[in-house]
Amino acid sequence: MKLRDWQEELLPKVVSGLRSRKLVALSAPTGSGKTLLVLSASLELGLPVSVFVRSKSQFQPWLRDAAKVAGERRVTLLIGQGESCRLGGGELSSPAPCDVCKVNRPLQADPPAAASVSGPTEFVRSLHRAAARADACPYRTMLAWSSDAWLLVASYPYLTSPLARKSIEDRLSGSLVVVDEAHNLDSAAEEHVLTGRMLDGARRQSRSPESKAIIGALADLVSESQDWREVDKPLELAGHADRLKEESSELYANMAKGERVHDNYLQLVSDFLSALPEVRFKLYTGYGGLRLIDPDPAPVLSVLSSPPAVILMSATLPPAQYVQRVWGIERDVVYLDARPGWGRRIEVMPPPRGLTTKYERRGGDMWSRYAEALEDIWESAGGSVLAVFPSYSVMEEVASRLGSLPIFMEDRRARADTLEEELRRGRRLVLAVARGKLVEGVEFRDVEGSSLISDVVLVGVPYRQPDAVEEERTRRISSRAGLGESERWRLLQLLPAWQAVAQAVGRAVRGESDRARVWPLDERYANAWWMARLESISNY
Ligand code: SF4
Repeated sequence: MKLRDWQEELLPKVVSGLRSRKLVALSAPTGSGKTLLVLSASLELGLPVSVFVRSKSQFQPWLRDAAKVAGERRVTLLIGQGESCRLGGGELSSPAPCDVCKVNRPLQADPPAAASVSGPTEFVRSLHRAAARADACPYRTMLAWSSDAWLLVASYPYLTSPLARKSIEDRLSGSLVVVDEAHNLDSAAEEHVLTGRMLDGARRQSRSPESKAIIGALADLVSESQDWREVDKPLELAGHADRLKEESSELYANMAKGERVHDNYLQLVSDFLSALPEVRFKLYTGYGGLRLIDPDPAPVLSVLSSPPAVILMSATLPPAQYVQRVWGIERDVVYLDARPGWGRRIEVMPPPRGLTTKYERRGGDMWSRYAEALEDIWESAGGSVLAVFPSYSVMEEVASRLGSLPIFMEDRRARADTLEEELRRGRRLVLAVARGKLVEGVEFRDVEGSSLISDVVLVGVPYRQPDAVEEERTRRISSRAGLGESERWRLLQLLPAWQAVAQAVGRAVRGESDRARVWPLDERYANAWWMARLESISNY
């Protein structure tokens, strides 16, 4: 398999960085061929490769490129237990009852060769068919294959959740670990979540009045506020975790008698209560649920300090200093910024005067001016326009002042695949929130593969929204990394805002031939720091 010139040039640098046990941060645009480069590096090093991806749509490029570079080598996916449990119907949100399961055994077969796998859907289907024929478990099979396969592709929780990671710990200590779309590590944190639905389910499943009272006391803490608010931990409830666990075990034993398993909400509540006394976890309520979280990413990401070789890859990686200080990864970093020579693909328009989403300047007049600016851009655009807002509230204010345009507005239920279908039917003005599901890791392409977005509008600067979890995160990172005031501003506000901008812009340029205009609609972009960064993406 012949590599492209830029890949040939970078491969020795990647390999030498990995051989000296440095963390390789590989920054290159989407569609440029990072996957092939990384797989080639693994072959040169003679190490198996463990890849972690954010979403299932990212499985395919790895399987495709593995077949190109090493078709005879063995590969496996590792999909979550909730989806791959043979008896769970594909949608468990609680741990499956493997200890008491009658089919708790792997297939007696080797992982498939890369060349024989046409894609993730086919991989999963044929695994389930074979497991059903042999009365075995697809999930156990993937775990067994994880020890032997040259390429393992797993979802993020197998890296970031200590419980899920346990099942592949040995493999991690002897393989090249690759994190795809690694800018997402910024939201890594250890947490336990209980939604109102889970608590209702637990109440239905509980049998004793005492358990019902414990669950009721937790449910009383749930608020519907649209931000996270800290609440005192009800530590007196923690001692009841064992009682709920007993009832949960009985529930599991009953499931084992049948052919189907279902969610065990009592287990989720019991796990939540067991974690409650840990000092590093704080308790928050909001959005109809509870969140017990240690918001510092460092404890979770310390897993990347020990494997023999680590690559972080993304089109929008933060700088080395951020990786070391904010993420707390204790490793020297080799930062490789790959430019595949695609020429200038993005035209950055000058920031206008008189537009800003600064808190003290917000109001009806400002939202009307933003609406007018969006309408003007819509008139001159050649394709669909993606407008990215710092928050839902700003988006709703501006949207309410727009004339009759074909608008697709993000809400909490919006699905990216629905939007792609809409854009294929005709031009749309897409209103989305920074870091939301329409601007992270999604593709909007026509059937030929070209981007359907011609213009990206940055409505305001997407600083992280201040809430109680964010404040605690800032406090912990600052104290761990010894950040002074100006470093705190640069590392925890400016750089994350820049990451969000780069992600949004990336929606419009997915391949070599895509071109886009970017409109930074906030006067705060008119300074040297922002202009240098916006200029840096012009030839991406
Ligand atoms: S089929 Fe059985 S062993 Fe496999 S994940 Fe489900 S409960 Fe566990």
